[in-house]
Amino acid sequence: MSIEVLPLDITERGECPQEFSFGAVFADHMFRQVYDKGVGWHDAQIVPYQPLQLDPSAAVLHYSQEIFEGLKAYRREDGKINLFRPMENIRRFNRSAERMVMPQVDEQLHLDALKQLVSLDAAWVPAKDGSSLYIRPAMIATSKKLGLGASSQYTHFIITGPAGAYFAGGFNPISVYITDKYRRAVVGGVGEAKTGGNYAASLMASEKVAELGYSQVLWLDSVNGRYIEEVGAMNICFVYEGNKIVTPALSGSILPGITRDSILKLAPTLGYEISEERLDVNQVVADIASGKITECFGCGTAAVISPVGKLCYLEKDYIVNNNVSGPVAKHLYDQLTGIQYGKIEDPFDWVVTLED
Ligand SMILES: *Cc1c(COP(=O)(O)O)cnc(C)c1O
Repeated sequence: MSIEVLPLDITERGECPQEFSFGAVFADHMFRQVYDKGVGWHDAQIVPYQPLQLDPSAAVLHYSQEIFEGLKAYRREDGKINLFRPMENIRRFNRSAERMVMPQVDEQLHLDALKQLVSLDAAWVPAKDGSSLYIRPAMIATSKKLGLGASSQYTHFIITGPAGAYFAGGFNPISVYITDKYRRAVVGGVGEAKTGGNYAASLMASEKVAELGYSQVLWLDSVNGRYIEEVGAMNICFVYEGNKIVTPALSGSILPGITRDSILKLAPTLGYEISEERLDVNQVVADIASGKITECFGCGTAAVISPVGKLCYLEKDYIVNNNVSGPVAKHLYDQLTGIQYGKIEDPFDWVVTLED
């Protein structure tokens, strides 16, 4: 199946603004295709960015049968554009679809759609240091029915928009609050899927910790309320003695991040030891207090690496590395972003450079 491209008249095109806040400005075009049970996917098109038409009874609006992805296009110094491990996002999209009883999307078509959309809107890939074009694929259930059950109709779409440098104010650590009250996801549930409901469910905890002056929630497992899972919508890593990077093992309720996976593959080549473990929060705060843990950071596509300088657990603050970012976080950040922007060699073949 091929993608029909219906571009805007060149004179109607918008322009990528110099200043933008994340996720608030969108590029000129979008991709969309629709699915009907018995027919499959059809009408794959790249069209001007526009509202979707949905019936008020559309299943997604009532029962959240929805999935999404998040990746970026990076402007290289030679002017070309890189995608970073896009097939990993495409495969995770299909795994999320399977969990939410939604149809699979052809991987090659999805990749072609990403490439064609970004190439068409290349003017929207900013060149400013640390900035990128954020790409948001999503799929929604559109059947007009309030009866609960998997939809028979879906829309898959991709929108993009410029994203500024995450650390415009410097590579400064965030503070996190380890909640002993709210839970993000359960084993057997949908925590491994990138589905909207997980994020709606997390909002109350985010609001409460923001009121207390912390910037992110650290989530513990739902069964024991004891094992570390994720921070906000990022995976989490701890550095022991400056050379061993430890991250929670995928438990069934942790979202398997591509940044997490990239760190696990990259770090050993930089001389670090890595380990995926079940991490008891009591041990972790004790290891922070004793200085065994020398750094802590979140990892995900948006920030790449986000140092954590302060963790609050049971009303006590634990400070990591004097609340300043540490060398391992910076080293990994520089190496990963170096590969993404094409500044350093990519021994893993992670980067896909778009043809002009
Ligand atoms: C998307 C996401 C991540 C990070 O995944 P990346 O592929 O690295 O961007 C981690 N945790 C949650 C809950 C997420 O939604």
